[in-house]
Amino acid sequence: MHGLKTVRVGSIDGIDIKLDWSVLVIFWLLTWSLAAAGLPSLASGYSASEYWPAALATTVAFFAALLAHELAHCVVARHQGLPVRDITLWLLGGVSAIEQEPKTPSGDLRIAIAGPATSIVVGLAGLGAAALFSAAGVAGLLVACAAWLGSVNLLLALFNLIPAAPLDGGRVLRAIRWRQTGDRTRAAIDAAHAGRAFGFILIALGFLEFVLGADVSGLWLVLLGWFLLSASRSEEEQVRMTRGLGTTRVRDLMTADPITVRDDMSVDEVLHDYVLARHCSSFPVLDGAGRLAGLVTLGRLRSVPPSHRTSTRVSEIAWPVADITIATPDEPVLDVLGRSKAGGDGRIVVTRGDAVVGIVSPTDITRVLQFADVERVDHSADSANSAG
Ligand SMILES: [Zn+2]
Repeated sequence: MHGLKTVRVGSIDGIDIKLDWSVLVIFWLLTWSLAAAGLPSLASGYSASEYWPAALATTVAFFAALLAHELAHCVVARHQGLPVRDITLWLLGGVSAIEQEPKTPSGDLRIAIAGPATSIVVGLAGLGAAALFSAAGVAGLLVACAAWLGSVNLLLALFNLIPAAPLDGGRVLRAIRWRQTGDRTRAAIDAAHAGRAFGFILIALGFLEFVLGADVSGLWLVLLGWFLLSASRSEEEQVRMTRGLGTTRVRDLMTADPITVRDDMSVDEVLHDYVLARHCSSFPVLDGAGRLAGLVTLGRLRSVPPSHRTSTRVSEIAWPVADITIATPDEPVLDVLGRSKAGGDGRIVVTRGDAVVGIVSPTDITRVLQFADVERVDHSADSANSAG
């Protein structure tokens, strides 16, 4: 969900509710398809001036149900003392930003199941209302709206219960595997692998539907599958990183006393006297008083056309302090990564007071993760040997 354009539309009990721009597209598509096709096929004989308001109200209710699903996850998470930041509704549903992991498998399970359980309740309520309306002789259009809402929420619950991360069913799978093995990381990786497999299946089905049936809705499946694929991948990466970095602190990774440049130097000067002479590719930039003023990398330096390199100062192309990740030597690396900024190409500038004392590059972090992997492979080889 990083980098998406969202607007905050309000808050419920301190949880910010945000909408991604893609919700507008879905809102319109859904209203239009309900008004033009969905409702007329369920209840015929009404006029456009009746279908359109009914479609609009049904779409609003649909999004309210989506929100209720996410709120259910959040309320249960909060009950366990986990902070909840916000809920974002977007193209493919809702995302709750719960800021800490549940502490027990049963806690994990309860948070996961709360959403689909809510959708099932809403679904049954919709179908129940439709039956009541119908028995009471209420207008067929209203019956159709309630029936549509009910069945869509039940479908949503079923889809979400498929055991593939990041779907709710994937969380359920994680909780169960966690309880079985006692290894949360292993359980999360299993759930992510299931997510990847399911993503591939959806993409394949979508292509098949598109090619054989010449049906555009196949593209929807491809999009959904692709999302599951990339989300489960990044989840697995995240889990591996958490395990690999463990309690590593910034000072264990950083290159101490990095070469710095002054903000009034020219790009040409830095390229020749620093990059070529010392084989460095990133430099903390200091102002006249020796305080950190930004960060510049080889990529940024090279992006200046050769003819402008003597006239351009480093300060003009460096990432400003506000855009880069800054840490102290004693911070756990995972905490720093959790609040990392977009600028600086993944580098972390390490400061103590006003002084720059180190720098961490993405390669430093990857190296630690690789070592952690080697260690684990050795351990499992050991246990295999002793078992044999
Ligand atoms: Zn959910």
